[in-house]
Amino acid sequence: MVKKIEFTKLQIEQITKRYQEGETPSQIANTYGCSRDVIRDRLIENRVSLRKSRVDKKCTICGVKLTSENTTWYRQKNYIYKCNECMRQEKAIDANEWRKNNPDRAGKGSEKYRRNLKKKNPKRYTAQQMRGSAKKRANALDLDYDLDSKYLESIMPDVCPSLGLEIKYGGGEKTKNSASLDRIVPEKGYVKGNVMIVSQLANLMKNEANSEEMLNFSKWVMKTYKN
Ligand SMILES: [Zn+2]
Repeated sequence: MVKKIEFTKLQIEQITKRYQEGETPSQIANTYGCSRDVIRDRLIENRVSLRKSRVDKKCTICGVKLTSENTTWYRQKNYIYKCNECMRQEKAIDANEWRKNNPDRAGKGSEKYRRNLKKKNPKRYTAQQMRGSAKKRANALDLDYDLDSKYLESIMPDVCPSLGLEIKYGGGEKTKNSASLDRIVPEKGYVKGNVMIVSQLANLMKNEANSEEMLNFSKWVMKTYKN
């Protein structure tokens, strides 16, 4: 039997807050002595978007019960009910399949391929390295990311737009001439239109400064070091 309860506005607020902080409708329902459906209905009425239930989902391949230990929240959010182990095997099979179908492209990640690319197409080499490290940084800093190496290659200048130094591509030791990826508005992340490639030196000089601080710095340099 579903117990009829009239919730006060304050109670609805508390329910919403508890749900948003991670409690399940069942847990909340216990406090009020009603069913979890009652709580769910109140949440829906209150325009709270409900999380997908993760209760008792099983791996669609091996049938093991999915827990936070053997699958990822990200996967479940996208309705992929597979455990880590099955996912790993599936990926390995896919990779083999891909190699068989793309013999000319296989081995692109190999040491030899990278060494060749470094010499033959330094910009492309740097673009690929940059893409990888930008993605890692975007993940670590929880920033947006939509870059690909083709795009990066397309925005690579020969000369630093800020300092006029020649920009060096193709890896190797980091110097002030090395190519460096700069976010124009840092909070906007690594997205097309918000990144440019400058010399390592320009990026280092800019580092933590905002545009006003940079302007002040430039004025100070002009005043102090003129001639
Ligand atoms: Zn499985």
